[in-house]
Amino acid sequence: MEEKIYRAAHVLVIPYPRQGHINPALQLAKRLASKGLKTTIAITKFIFKTIQPQPPSSLQFETISDGFDERGRFAEAVSVHDYLQKMEAAGSKTLAELITKYKNSSNPIDCIVYDTFLPWALEVAKQFGLLGAAFFTQTCAVNYIYYLVYNGLLKVPVSSTAAPVSITGLPLLEPQDLPSFVYVAGEYPDYFEMLLGQFSNTDKADFLLVNTFYELEDEVVNTMHKICPALLTVGPTIPSFYLDNRIENDKDYDLDLLKTDKTICIDWLNARPKGSVVYVSFGSISSLSHKQMEELAWGLKQTDFHFLWVVRDSEDLKLPKGFIEETTNKGLIVKWSPQLAVLSNEALGCFFSHAGWNSTIEALSLAVPMVVMPLWTDQPTDAKLVQDVWKVGIRVVVEENGIVTRDEIEKCVRKVIVGEKAREMKLNAEKWRKLAIEAVSEGGSSDKNIDEFVSKLGTTSYKYY
Ligand code: UDP
Repeated sequence: MEEKIYRAAHVLVIPYPRQGHINPALQLAKRLASKGLKTTIAITKFIFKTIQPQPPSSLQFETISDGFDERGRFAEAVSVHDYLQKMEAAGSKTLAELITKYKNSSNPIDCIVYDTFLPWALEVAKQFGLLGAAFFTQTCAVNYIYYLVYNGLLKVPVSSTAAPVSITGLPLLEPQDLPSFVYVAGEYPDYFEMLLGQFSNTDKADFLLVNTFYELEDEVVNTMHKICPALLTVGPTIPSFYLDNRIENDKDYDLDLLKTDKTICIDWLNARPKGSVVYVSFGSISSLSHKQMEELAWGLKQTDFHFLWVVRDSEDLKLPKGFIEETTNKGLIVKWSPQLAVLSNEALGCFFSHAGWNSTIEALSLAVPMVVMPLWTDQPTDAKLVQDVWKVGIRVVVEENGIVTRDEIEKCVRKVIVGEKAREMKLNAEKWRKLAIEAVSEGGSSDKNIDEFVSKLGTTSYKYY
């Protein structure tokens, strides 16, 4: 006898194994699960082994290999190129094994949502006849710039003395506002190749999901949508608790690669006056020179504001001598913070950031004005948008020797917290927060796009004989 059974479609989400990619992928996975999809996240065997994370209740974890299961990429890979090559080989093989494992279960995988840094995942999905959704974790502006470069429509490198670049949907961009790989010749060629490679097979992808929201980047989203009709904005991918609060128990990112002591940061912030603290963080990868660390440290001291500064272990030794002792009354230095809880604390006056995309969209979503000091990759473009389009912050001026001086740091922090335009920036930040909440709330732009994605996957029927 034939029996029809209906089941929720099963989506496998594969993040690139770095903090700034795992966070948005996990959050997108939680949103998809909240819409009734069965959702699994594939993390690397190395991360699973070292962190032993507990999956949020709505998801399950599986593992694939990036080729460095024992000691991890930083201990084992000889170069970025080596890492990317081995990850593609081991990742493709173990992803195929995972899909096969589920194939004969009651929950076969229907769709792979893959970070665009892993275009090989789409090839594997297609070998198995599955749907494939590319997930872009940078701004639509940056994605579009890379799209133009990949397709030969923007020639690189753009000389640092060239005239501003005009791109439909974006403000005029000085060369220094473009992603660093586009104007610094030969900088990290393997990463640049990987970023352009995001577009190597997107014509085969069934969906292009972007971690932004329509209202934030409407013009460039419209422009890109004309060429890539499968594009859907689905952000901000931050825990529901901080936005629409529609998803139960969704308060954290749930997978921190570094250990954090939440209580220390929050207790310290709770004891500071409203709007008085500078939160300083450069994300999970970026590194400052000794000289820059020194300028930043003394610049923060000069502001005379309280500061909470994330200094990862790898940066620790660069703190200038005597700094900690001289600033014990003013500052708290931690190795990793619960960033969302920090940004949403009333004590925050401004976020001194590298303008990494997650940090930026988190600050916009939590209405925190910024001082931005972009270092590389997409950060210069994010910084341009923060200052000139969203008008929620100030970008530091860099000296010819590449250093941002302590006086400049002090000046920018003052401008954002107590300067003439401080109130305007705060009001703008509040406006973006409101729009971010609306985007993910029922019927909002991102919510509708997620519904569209989910309905296209639908429920699946299959037959027993
Ligand atoms: N983050 C955090 N604690 C910290 C610093 C960063 O939880 O002390 C999180 C932050 O909330 C963001 C991510 O790490 O989600 C960093 O991503 P981003 O794109 O800002 O920077 P990247 O690390 O990719 O350069």
